[in-house]
Amino acid sequence: MFTSSIKPYRFNILECYLLKRIEKIYLDSAYAFYRWPEVYIGDIHDFPPINNDKYDTINKDYNSHDIDYLGHYVYQNSNEGHIRIYKDRIKDCAFRIAKNLGINGFHVMNDLLTIVLIHEIGHWFTHSCHVNNKNIRLKGFASQAEIMVESMAQLTVVWSMMKLKNDAIKRITLVFEYLVERQSYPYQAFKELGKKQTHVKTLLKRYGYIADDYENNYGLDFNYFLHGDKIYKKKKNIFP
Ligand SMILES: [Zn+2]
Repeated sequence: MFTSSIKPYRFNILECYLLKRIEKIYLDSAYAFYRWPEVYIGDIHDFPPINNDKYDTINKDYNSHDIDYLGHYVYQNSNEGHIRIYKDRIKDCAFRIAKNLGINGFHVMNDLLTIVLIHEIGHWFTHSCHVNNKNIRLKGFASQAEIMVESMAQLTVVWSMMKLKNDAIKRITLVFEYLVERQSYPYQAFKELGKKQTHVKTLLKRYGYIADDYENNYGLDFNYFLHGDKIYKKKKNIFP
């Protein structure tokens, strides 16, 4: 049945738990879904080429710690996408991290699988699970700034583990932070929120306005996402 390395990805117990937490967060803020997305794992060259995604995302020169180098949310503008997890790239990355951090490589590999899965699930939620203005946000997703799209996916990882403190979570957090430090800027931008990263409802509300932005053209941008109305009001004072 399977002629290549590609298989459906099977969620482990911890991932199911983290996904339920994320589900609650998004569903409390006007997102909805009926089924989780399709998720596949395999070596990158066994996957069929992506030809229906945003051109500059597929051909981007990723650094090897960027999460979307290790996996990908593949979508067409108006349709829900699927998730690909690149096993060979994750394995290489995991053993490099394990060596540098002095922790077990197989543990790091499992941690990376979880991080990549939840990051890509974050893309899936913010692309295709909107209740409000669903069609506008679905079609507008590809035009959103990379900094915004990646911040939402990174925050999804942060939110999934918020307030959890067991050893497994501590190790995933350590691996995630190690990764973030080495990723390109769009993947680090969410850190500008500082302690406000956990202000989930506010951030999802602001993201909703930004996702509608190209239609109403209020000039909302990443500064608005970080600071709310403060910056926006300042801009209005400069340009009354
Ligand atoms: Zn991403």
